[in-house]
Amino acid sequence: MKNSEIVINIIGGGLAGSEAANYLANKGYKIKLYERRPLVDDEAHVTSKMGELVCSNSLKNKKLDNACGLLKEEINRLGSLIMEASRVSEVPSGDALAVDRNVFADYIDNKIRNNPNIEVINEDVNDIFEGYTIIATGPLTSKSLLEKISDITGKDVYGFYDASAPIIYKDSIDFSKVFMKDRYDHENDGSYINCGMNKDEYLNFYNNLITAKKAHLHEIDKDYFEGCLPIEVIASRGVDTLRFGPLKPVGLNNEDKEYYAVVQLRQDDLIGEFYNMVGFQTNLTYGEQKRVFSLIPGLENAKFARYGLMHRNSYLFSPIVLNDDLSLKANNNVFIAGQLSGVEGYVESAATGLLAAIYLDLRLKDKPFKALSFNTVLGALVRYITHTGKNNFQPMNANFGIIYGANRSDKSKVIDRSLKDIEAFKSYIND
Ligand SMILES: Cc1cc2nc3c(=O)[nH]c(=O)nc-3n(C[C@H](O)[C@H](O)[C@H](O)COP(=O)(O)OP(=O)(O)OC[C@H]3O[C@@H](n4cnc5c(N)ncnc54)[C@H](O)[C@@H]3O)c2cc1C
Repeated sequence: MKNSEIVINIIGGGLAGSEAANYLANKGYKIKLYERRPLVDDEAHVTSKMGELVCSNSLKNKKLDNACGLLKEEINRLGSLIMEASRVSEVPSGDALAVDRNVFADYIDNKIRNNPNIEVINEDVNDIFEGYTIIATGPLTSKSLLEKISDITGKDVYGFYDASAPIIYKDSIDFSKVFMKDRYDHENDGSYINCGMNKDEYLNFYNNLITAKKAHLHEIDKDYFEGCLPIEVIASRGVDTLRFGPLKPVGLNNEDKEYYAVVQLRQDDLIGEFYNMVGFQTNLTYGEQKRVFSLIPGLENAKFARYGLMHRNSYLFSPIVLNDDLSLKANNNVFIAGQLSGVEGYVESAATGLLAAIYLDLRLKDKPFKALSFNTVLGALVRYITHTGKNNFQPMNANFGIIYGANRSDKSKVIDRSLKDIEAFKSYIND
C-alpha cells in the first residue's frame, strides 16, 4: 500500500500531536488531526492555535551539556517542528531557549494547516478510533477519554496527581548526616535514606516552609486532592501536622538516637542514581524548593534532578500499559505521546510525539523495530517511562540521571555518544 492510501488519526494538536502530524504527513501519510479547541475551553490554553505553550515561554536550557539542551539538539536532528518554530521565534534569554509564544504557535499552526496531507478536524474526541491512532491529548485529557483508554487496557491505568515531589541526585546527599533504614525495621540497612531532625532544625525548616513563595496556580488547579496535598498546605494546618504525617519519626531511630522529625527519600530509578523526597509534593517556586529543602540535614548541597510540580496532570501508568514503541500493550495500533505518556515538560512532550511518529512509520514500512539508543536523552526518557517504577510511577523530564553513567562521565563524551547514536538512528529510519 502506498503511504498516501494510509490514514492515521492523531488526537490533539498540542506539542506532541503537532510533531507527530508534521512528521507523518511529510512521509506522505494522510493525517486526520482532531483538535477540540475552541469547542472546549480547558482553561489552560487561550487560543485555538496548534502547538500553543500553556505557561512559560521557555523551552529551558539550550546548552548541550544540559540534558534538556541535548534533547533539543537530538530532536532537531530528527526533524522536529517545534525546533523549527523556535528558530523563527527565539527571544534573548541567556542560556535558555525562550520564544515569542505567538510567533511560535503561529509558525506551527501554519505548517499544520497548510500541509496538504493533514486534515484538521475540530472535534472533542471521546472515543478511540479504529485503525492507526496517536493519542496526544495532554495533561488535561478529559475523564471520559481517560476512561476509554482504561477500558481498552482493562485496567485502572491512569494516574491523576495534583503535584509531584522533587527528585534528588543520590551523590549530592551528605551521607555523614543521614542513615539507611526502613520504618520499624530494627536493622539500619533498609532501602530508605532518612534525614533526621532535632527540634530546632525542624522548627527552622517549618517556619521557612510556611512562609516560602509559592508558584502561581491557575484557577483549575486550586482544588487539591486530599490524598496528595502539597507539603506546604499540610504544614499550614499546624506546626505538628508534618510530624504526624510525612515527617513522622516513629520507627526511625538511628541506632538508639531518636529524632523529632524525619524526612525520607525513596529510590526512584532502576540504577539508584536518584531519590524521591517522600511526601514532598509541592507548589513552591523552584528557587524556594532549593532554599527551603536544603535546610534539611544531609540535603544542604542537594542537586535536584527534578523539582516538585503542581498542576493538574493526568498520565497513563506507562510502565504497565505501554510497549517500548509507545503503543498500547492492549492495542498496538494505538500510540500514546506527549505528557499523557508520563513525560513532563514542553520539549519532552513534543519529543515523544516525534518518536511515536517515527516508530509508527517504521511499523508501516515493515522495518523491524529498533529502539532509539539509551545513550540519547530521548531514548533514555522513553525507556524510563516504559520500564521504571512499576509500583510508583511518576512523570519524568529530561535529566542526565536517566542515562546510565552520564553523571559520572565527562559531559563531552555523553554528548558525542548521544549525537553519534542519533545520526545512526536517522540513517536507519530514513533508509
Ligand atoms: C497549566 C499547565 C502549565 C504548564 N506549564 C509548563 C511549563 O511552563 N513548562 C513546561 O515545560 N511544561 C509545562 N506544562 C506541562 C506540559 O509540558 C504541557 O502541558 C505540554 O503542553 C504538554 O504537551 P502535550 O502535547 O502532551 O499536550 P498539550 O500541549 O496540552 O496538547 C494537547 C492537545 O490536545 C487537545 N485535546 C485534548 N483532549 C482532546 C480531545 N478529547 N479531542 C480533541 N482534542 C483534544 C488539546 O486542546 C490540546 O491542544 C504545563 C502543563 C499545564 C497543565
